[in-house]
Amino acid sequence: MNIKTLLFAIIIFFGCTPKNATTNNQNSRTTPTSSISKVMKTKPKNIILLVGDGMGLTQITAGMYMNGNKLNLEKFPITGLHKSYAYDNLVTDSAAGATAFACGVKTYNGAIGVDHDTIPIKTILEEAEENGLATGMVATSTIVHATPGSFIAHQKQRRMYEEIAADFLKTDIDIFIGGGKKFFNNRESDDRDLYAELRAKGYVMSDFFEKDLEDIQIDKTKKFGYLTANKDPLPVAQGRDYLMPATLKTLDFLDNRSDKGFFLMIEGSQIDWGGHANNSDYIVTEMIEFDNVIGEVLKYAKEDGETLVIVTADHETGGYAINKGSTRDSLVTAFTTDYHTAVMIPVFAYGPGSEAFSGIYENTAIYDKMKSAFGF
Ligand SMILES: [Zn+2]
Repeated sequence: MNIKTLLFAIIIFFGCTPKNATTNNQNSRTTPTSSISKVMKTKPKNIILLVGDGMGLTQITAGMYMNGNKLNLEKFPITGLHKSYAYDNLVTDSAAGATAFACGVKTYNGAIGVDHDTIPIKTILEEAEENGLATGMVATSTIVHATPGSFIAHQKQRRMYEEIAADFLKTDIDIFIGGGKKFFNNRESDDRDLYAELRAKGYVMSDFFEKDLEDIQIDKTKKFGYLTANKDPLPVAQGRDYLMPATLKTLDFLDNRSDKGFFLMIEGSQIDWGGHANNSDYIVTEMIEFDNVIGEVLKYAKEDGETLVIVTADHETGGYAINKGSTRDSLVTAFTTDYHTAVMIPVFAYGPGSEAFSGIYENTAIYDKMKSAFGF
């Protein structure tokens, strides 16, 4: 075996790209990142952004201990921290937080895809669409709630749910799954039937009322929208169980839909609601469900080899703490607030382009890093 062949074998073995290898120094060290099945590319084709709303470090820690001291999040090779503050407030809300990820601007609390002067800013989802990528969103809140809303809509206030729903018509998002049926076809501000309008644009529209998501064979030649509840979906503890099947169906749907790749945003929306309720069990059950989904997304990305996975939160909720007297099976918890806090937020990244997510940076940098990873 000559040196060239040996080097090549080392590169393949460690899942490292030739770009990172030095050709004239056979002693150079390459670090194995994971047991991936394909050679890692340097630029991702697909980006999957998972947002655990209200998922601060304590929420993650509580989920981990109550899940037998393990989470799929531990498998991520790259971790970082982001500064979550908004334009007008050190303590952000989900609208300003998601707009920072989606648009790369700090804006005021309540803003949906607009800057602090209420000027609409193109979102990463819209840019992905313009560049020929397929796009999708899955959420366990309504699909017009602040986080998903900020990736697809441009409205002055997060409460403008019917306006945010109507903004779905202004895009060509390929697939969306979440609650909020009434904002589409039982509207108060007008008589528009957005199901009919979306169908006219080539969507297959369905909902919880018509058919179980698990029983639906999604037609990959069309676009697909599915509403999981009339308003807010239930908590996991009360029987909501669609995040996993919705994620798997969406990955299957988006995989190879466009030869340019895809952008997918998945939100574990209700970790935040557990924080607002100062309810540790609510936080933990939502956190563990979200982490299970993260595990499946990671599995997809490992097999695919061209998918960048980023997991983060918009902010922490509750000033949640794990106090003295806790054990690994039983946590003594406390809260400082029923609102959000300003603590820095962890970021986890895996896949081509993931290295850019280590360190400490502004929440808006998540947008910048995704955009440059895509090469837009
Ligand atoms: Zn909140």
